[in-house]
Amino acid sequence: MDHDELRQRLRPRSGGPLPKDALIDDAKVRDFPRSYRQGYRRIERNSLQALMASSRSRHHTLAIKVANCSPSQPCGEAVLCWWCKVKTGLAEAEAMNSTFNIAIRRHRISAITIILAVIDLEDHQALKQHIRNFHRYWRVICEGWPGCRWRGRFELDLLTGHPDQELGTYVKKTLKGLGYARQHDSYEDFVLLHTHIVLAHPGVGRGKVVDRLSAAYPLPRQVNVTSLRGEQTMEEALSRFGGYMVKFRPPSFALAGRGSRTRRPRHPHVILDYIQLQRRFSGDDLLIHDAVPRRHQ
Ligand SMILES: [Zn+2]
Repeated sequence: MDHDELRQRLRPRSGGPLPKDALIDDAKVRDFPRSYRQGYRRIERNSLQALMASSRSRHHTLAIKVANCSPSQPCGEAVLCWWCKVKTGLAEAEAMNSTFNIAIRRHRISAITIILAVIDLEDHQALKQHIRNFHRYWRVICEGWPGCRWRGRFELDLLTGHPDQELGTYVKKTLKGLGYARQHDSYEDFVLLHTHIVLAHPGVGRGKVVDRLSAAYPLPRQVNVTSLRGEQTMEEALSRFGGYMVKFRPPSFALAGRGSRTRRPRHPHVILDYIQLQRRFSGDDLLIHDAVPRRHQ
């Protein structure tokens, strides 16, 4: 598919789906929840619209690459491409399940979210430094908990300062504690760096884990530690969490509204900023895991 054909396909009325869209219920992706597959396809469509509306040819090249993605020649652009994102989610679900032994007792395995920092979007060094610092911190505390295992990821959200971007009340409180104040007259962009980790902690109770993390990250709601969802089997819960970690969702206020007739994104430049932010990292840069070979084992 070339530039003109893609433009044609993206037209609101006369356009149509991409060839890979026919694979939405394909056996290779069917294990991933359907609502997520559809949501990812919607994000892809918005992303392609935003890229093609840009005046930069490198944006068009990227859009064409994603539009031509197929199972035999995947584009690898999991931030944009619904097919590659679902495949990444499935791979992450599998990695989660192979990290954690099914025999681990449920009260000794926790799902952890930590809000780490708010960083100026343009300050690339500060973002990388925060990621390095957390890696170091995490390794040190986990060394103090014998037999623990973990797997997780950093997630990067875009904070735009735009009044239409909704932030949950509790996130607002935490952000305020991190020094972020939304200013309605100047839409400055920031990155909200947070992390989702599954931790198996056979030798220590969940309460101790919470205490230890909250000592380092003391703001209200900065640390959230829960059990894996009880109504799901361990395998399901780990799969869901794994898939959830690689959702790559641009701020929803920037996407086309539900039921929009034109189906064009409301704020394409926000989507482009988001894509650019994510593409500064490869998938493994944001991974947090214990699978470093240990010589003494
Ligand atoms: Zn792809």
